[in-house]
Amino acid sequence: MAHEPSIVIIGAGFGGIAQAIELRRHGFSDITILEKAGKLGGTWFYNTYPGAACDVPSHLYSFSYATRRDWPRLCSPQAEILDYLSEVARHHDVDRLVTHGVEVSSCAWECATRRWTVAAADGRTWECDAVVVGTGQLHRKRYPDIPGRHTFAGHQFHSAEWDHDYELDGKRVAVVGTGASAVQFVPDIAPRVSRLSVFQRTGNWFFPRKNRAYPAFIKAVIRFIPGVQAYRRWFIHQYAESLTLMIRHPRTLGRVGQAQSSTFMRLQLKDPEIRRKAWPDYTFGCKRVLFSSSFLTTLQRENVDLVTEAITRVTPAGLITVDSTEHEVDCIIWATGFHTTEFMFPMEVTGAGRRSLRDTWKNGAHAHLGMTVPGFPSLFILYGPNTNTSGGSIIFYLENQAAYIRQALQQVQKRGAAAIDVRSEVAARSEQETQARFIGTAWTQCDSWYRTEQGRIVANWPGYMREYSDRTRILNPDEFTFLPSPEPTTPTPGEC
Ligand code: NAP
Repeated sequence: MAHEPSIVIIGAGFGGIAQAIELRRHGFSDITILEKAGKLGGTWFYNTYPGAACDVPSHLYSFSYATRRDWPRLCSPQAEILDYLSEVARHHDVDRLVTHGVEVSSCAWECATRRWTVAAADGRTWECDAVVVGTGQLHRKRYPDIPGRHTFAGHQFHSAEWDHDYELDGKRVAVVGTGASAVQFVPDIAPRVSRLSVFQRTGNWFFPRKNRAYPAFIKAVIRFIPGVQAYRRWFIHQYAESLTLMIRHPRTLGRVGQAQSSTFMRLQLKDPEIRRKAWPDYTFGCKRVLFSSSFLTTLQRENVDLVTEAITRVTPAGLITVDSTEHEVDCIIWATGFHTTEFMFPMEVTGAGRRSLRDTWKNGAHAHLGMTVPGFPSLFILYGPNTNTSGGSIIFYLENQAAYIRQALQQVQKRGAAAIDVRSEVAARSEQETQARFIGTAWTQCDSWYRTEQGRIVANWPGYMREYSDRTRILNPDEFTFLPSPEPTTPTPGEC
């Protein structure tokens, strides 16, 4: 009988849950999900800022095997997404596999046993045959390196750790950053605060998004007419691919996107001074195109200032900008994003020969199809390097990854092997191909969280969802080596 591998999944967000479901559906049963938080949900558990929602329509931002016909609106708010994920996890009976309150600090490959030891910050350990890291790209909060941040005497918090106990009503509030998160909560809090100063370093390209609840008639059509929901999913998928098409071809189709966005932005930004300040100065699609029909209009409210001068210092009273203006505030909200290029760090991951993943990735992270790294046998990454999308659904990528990783584990089982390791020449070739695919695209034409300080794009997949799906649909065993199980009586000394 084939050996039943023990699998540890780190993280109970969409990735970890997708992996557990995929494995269970194919007969794997020794699965443990380790989750730092007290609840599952990952990014949708942590990000609870007002107005938090997904700007990818729910008909696409959902599992293909758990579609719904009764989404109340185009894009679901955070609580609805969290409920959806919890319900799917419950339905597939994987919620009970989650051990909460475990912050994994290291994963170490033990050569002699050809197994992994996963250790938590509190000293607990787990031994397993395979590790799937599902900690995501957008997890560790990033604060900018502005002097004096800790001297601020008022209240401050990060958008991904919203302080719901702090009463914003009537306060003078500074929001630093104008990315996808800020764009969602600024319109929500602006009417409540006495003064809102929005500090923008770079403007954004916008597309409309109203996101009203579906009228009863539309809801009924989607719900009761067969095929309508499937058609919507297909249509939204194609629309998302068209965004990637624009990003991949900035001189042609990108210009069409830019013209559409410019028209929308002009209609929104009636105030010429604010329009001038908010206007982006980089190629359309280089950073994430933002979907909002309320952010730009909010910037024109009486009680809102758009500040584009760089912040040089934080003082006990507020923020000082490069023009020496002191902006006195009661509260600072840091909407400054995440450490995106370091992936699962500070977790220490050591593979064969005690080689650390940090060293392996010192010139920028790369994994074959975003999932496997040579010398790290049976370690798999979900939403790993070069698997983010600027136009599309991460859930689509995660489903493809979960199925690919399941195939890898099936191959190990079928061969009676101990572990699977991607060949270094395969990973090197895919790294070269991935980077080459960025040439000439909009992504290369500005700085963004997709890139390392040296300019290498490590976050995004350079192509379309359908390409990723084609590349990952069938795992090619020739791209891997299979490590035999060690002899039970003579454990291999030293490294292997
Ligand atoms: P983000 O996109 O990385 O935005 C961070 C913002 O902080 C940027 O505007 C950045 O400006 C600004 N910033 C950084 N340092 C600054 C400084 N010293 N002074 C002034 N501004 C500074 O982070 P995020 O908004 O949290 O979004 C992160 C990602 O999460 C998104 O790109 C998206 O993938 C995901 N997300 C998705 C949704 C959704 O609806 N699907 C919603 C929210 C988030 P620069 O542009 O100049 O760097």
